[in-house]
Amino acid sequence: MGFSYPVNLDLQGRRCVVVGGGKIAEDKIKGLLEAGANVRIIAPWLTAALEELSATNRVEVNRKKYSTGDLDGAFLAIAATDDTATNALVFAEAEELKVLLCSVDDIDHCHFAAPATVRRGDFLITISTAGKAPALAKRLRRELGASFGPEWGALVDVLSEARSEALALGARDGGFDEWAERWSAALDQDIMGLVAGDRLEEAKHRVLQVLLGGQPAPDAAQSHQRGGFHTVGGSKTHPGAAAVPETSPQQFGRSGRVWLVGAGPGDPELLTVRGRRALDNADVVIHDRLVHPALISGRPAIYAGKQAGNHHMSQQEVNSLLIRLARKGKNVVRLKGGDPFVFGRGAEEAEALAAAGIPFEIVPAPTSALATLATARIPATDRRFSSSVAIVTGHRSREQQVKLKELATAVDTIVVLMGLSTLPTTVAELIAGGRDPDTPAAIIENGTLPEQRVIVTSLKHLPKAAAEATVESPATIVIGEVVRLRDRLLSANHDDRLASSS
Ligand code: SAH
Repeated sequence: MGFSYPVNLDLQGRRCVVVGGGKIAEDKIKGLLEAGANVRIIAPWLTAALEELSATNRVEVNRKKYSTGDLDGAFLAIAATDDTATNALVFAEAEELKVLLCSVDDIDHCHFAAPATVRRGDFLITISTAGKAPALAKRLRRELGASFGPEWGALVDVLSEARSEALALGARDGGFDEWAERWSAALDQDIMGLVAGDRLEEAKHRVLQVLLGGQPAPDAAQSHQRGGFHTVGGSKTHPGAAAVPETSPQQFGRSGRVWLVGAGPGDPELLTVRGRRALDNADVVIHDRLVHPALISGRPAIYAGKQAGNHHMSQQEVNSLLIRLARKGKNVVRLKGGDPFVFGRGAEEAEALAAAGIPFEIVPAPTSALATLATARIPATDRRFSSSVAIVTGHRSREQQVKLKELATAVDTIVVLMGLSTLPTTVAELIAGGRDPDTPAAIIENGTLPEQRVIVTSLKHLPKAAAEATVESPATIVIGEVVRLRDRLLSANHDDRLASSS
């Protein structure tokens, strides 16, 4: 197989001899000059453009027919004549002097074939048919040229900078395999989206972070909107393809991706950094009722919340919506109160996405079951009072039952979510199970929010206290000795409202 070994040469400052001064020679000479070569032309006459070029002294011209000796001092040579006999002479000298020669359209007198190229800065695609089907190479060059914009050159620069910095910081010290894995994870991120948006510093920072062993960003995917890694003819060509769960087989376009994001317990500041990034990258947000309005304001959002007795959208409908949007290529954030996997049906949605072949990420968050206790200054555990916590739902259904009687004495701290309407039953069952009716208990309404209220009482008085204070959803109920600690943990002049918003 001829011409089968590809190389990209560094011609900077190297002498390259071109035999011929016609149109084809002109193209080759331009390419050589772009590569920084020192060009000498051997030709009795030149095209107008080459005449101009010679006037600027950017090339050296010997106005004569080729004769042996003209390749003297050459690193590389190109014969662009339409005369096979001349090519044969040049080839003979090239053989003699060990100069690499390409005779255009004359395979018999070539050491190398010059591929068709698409060049974007240092990003270079070369297409070769070993000189056998140049028209095909040209066609492909045109198509690739349309698909690969200047951002590819910028991408190479960004990656190169990140690479140097990471190396300087010892990122390769862990061995080559780890280094290669980190690169793969770095490129799985939407770096091109950032580069195409001219956010070069941010792009570099993200790559660097992963190269140094940090976590990839949640949007570890191609960005369909801002270019992402381009596809050609509909097939995936981006380097991270293997790491991205595949899209459904019937579609060849890019699938979007879904992020199941925990919005945290209420206070919008308790959204995670990763959750924020996913939101910023989202084309659409599907959210629940408990999600703070500040997190969705100004974003395209769809409400899919459920309120007791008033199902706004069935779970099935939410699942299909997520799948449909992702299949349209959208980046979808499914934003749920607290943690998506704590009484949030996050797993049902994840399962539907997995079954549909939609790539998705889970972004965890503080659950209200623990975070609202913290802002109410009630520790979930404390080695003096509690070494175990149960988080239970007050919601009762045939498929969902809580073994409250068994739990009553088996666990120290009991946290009840969605527990207001069934509070009397919950209390009765716990007491029937043997829990001391005087166990301290608290109700935290609108936990972590400026309007947070904390009602401290005892297990047996919970229903009455809730009724008297007209507690409303969302509220978290906590039962256990740890509630006693609240008094001690309140700082001077403590006000729940101030504490939760500071
Ligand atoms: N996935 C969520 C829980 C969903 S169930 C999480 O991890 O937090 C909804 C229940 O969470 C509510 O009925 C209430 O019991 C509790 N909850 C949510 N937000 C709350 C808040 N700000 N204050 C108190 N309880 C809250």
